[in-house]
Amino acid sequence: MTQPKNKVVIFLGPPGAGKGTQAERLAAEQHLVKISTGDILRDHVVRGTELGQQIKPMLDAGKLVPDDILIALIRDRLADMEGVRVIFDGFPRTRAQAEELDVLLEELGAPVDHVPLLEVPDELLIERIVARGRQAAADGGTGRSDDTEEVARHRQDVFREQTQPLIDYYSARGHLEHVDGVGSMEEVYARILKSMK
Ligand code: ADP
Repeated sequence: MTQPKNKVVIFLGPPGAGKGTQAERLAAEQHLVKISTGDILRDHVVRGTELGQQIKPMLDAGKLVPDDILIALIRDRLADMEGVRVIFDGFPRTRAQAEELDVLLEELGAPVDHVPLLEVPDELLIERIVARGRQAAADGGTGRSDDTEEVARHRQDVFREQTQPLIDYYSARGHLEHVDGVGSMEEVYARILKSMK
């Protein structure tokens, strides 16, 4: 069999934009591995690993986990792969992470292909996150500890301050594609596919 072609997609967008769900579907349909750093970090917290204990307060407060931790996690993930067909959800989130990712991808001979940016107005984002938190509570679970209005607002501020600069970073490289994130899941998914043509 021929080696599958490398493909690297980086999903950008504020918390609550629906990146995770859309990335999941894109991964399934295009045979990509979804790498969600939020999921990886939450899994460490649930399992109570040493790293999990260290980062739990940061996740609960909606603060970013230090770059060196994230970069080590991603380095490990990519090292295990044969052929790099990935979609990043929630990574990179800082300029330092983006630069380090470029170094890693260069070593692997798998440059970035697409960077869709899901755009959703601020107030809608907070509404969606708070609704997700309430729904989880109503379902009898505790949901994500960071899905409260206060922490959600802080996550938006962190996005604006730390992650927004990545928009310029990828835009300067000609990879950025703006996608309107308002509408049904179907509509948004169709726009994402179109942006990647
Ligand atoms: P959100 O819905 O807020 O985008 P994520 O599931 O992507 O949530 O991330 C949840 C939390 O995990 C973040 O608030 C942060 O504490 C931590 N985190 C996830 N990815 C990163 C990253 N690339 N760099 C630093 N911290 C991260």
